[in-house]
Amino acid sequence: MAAFKGSKHPPEPAYQATPGSILHADREFYTSIINAERTSIESFVLPIRSGRAWKVPEGHIVRISTPEGPQVGDVNFWNLHNPRERFWASRTKQLHASHVSTFDRLWSCLPYLRPMVTIIADSLGGKDGYGVDEWGGRCHDLLGTRCDPYVNYMLSGDSYDYHCHSNLTRAILPYGLTEFDVHDVINIFQVTGLDKDGKYFMEASPARKDDYIEFFAEQPLLMALSTCPGGDLSTWGWGEGGEGEGQEKKSMLDCCRPLKVEVFKITDSKELERWVAPQSPAYRGAHGMKVPTGETGRDT
Ligand SMILES: [Zn+2]
Repeated sequence: MAAFKGSKHPPEPAYQATPGSILHADREFYTSIINAERTSIESFVLPIRSGRAWKVPEGHIVRISTPEGPQVGDVNFWNLHNPRERFWASRTKQLHASHVSTFDRLWSCLPYLRPMVTIIADSLGGKDGYGVDEWGGRCHDLLGTRCDPYVNYMLSGDSYDYHCHSNLTRAILPYGLTEFDVHDVINIFQVTGLDKDGKYFMEASPARKDDYIEFFAEQPLLMALSTCPGGDLSTWGWGEGGEGEGQEKKSMLDCCRPLKVEVFKITDSKELERWVAPQSPAYRGAHGMKVPTGETGRDT
């Protein structure tokens, strides 16, 4: 008899919560935030193949857009006052999906486990968005991570100093953080998937001029962004761009474009009145450890 493989019925998503759980963003509230009056308090364009970090007050909106067309961005998040609380891509993937969009939240690592941001707008999402392509590719990737000089050297023997890991490292130095603070990213405007053998693949970014994604800051944040040196990824590895007949294969540099970052304050304060800063789960079990703190704490 053949070995039993898998269940007889399609498995259910493993991480589900009851209605009203913090897992589910309050759509009515975030829709009111999207429509609220806002004022820009910071705006910059990040050039190709570079990195920059910036602060975001809680209750503000961050919009990242593609002013010149397709370009992948690698984003990190930390609590501004406690950088040990930082984005946890793996758990976010389990709680929501491998690729995220409007009303999904990006969660922080243990022992904090609370939303750092909620995605409130995504011009590549929704019913008219990118969806899922014929290869199973989807946009705004949590499956992969940042490109880095170590894996590049390991695979190719080449040294290159402007991978996303390095761009993020340089970006956070002015804020007292180091390479060890860089963590797994969300790859915005990036299409990825797993093939039939479970192997990770990347496709060209579908972003058009002025596509955007917006994050609502659920806590005071330090954010950092890298404009990936792979640009729109159309020529990365066995990429699919520029290989038409009679056409020179494009270089990766030709596929690189800037990204724009804007931070907005919500000026219609009524909309924000309903917002409550997310709390960490109230677990107080100390992992089963009953460790005395000293002689006075001993069991007698
Ligand atoms: Zn990269």
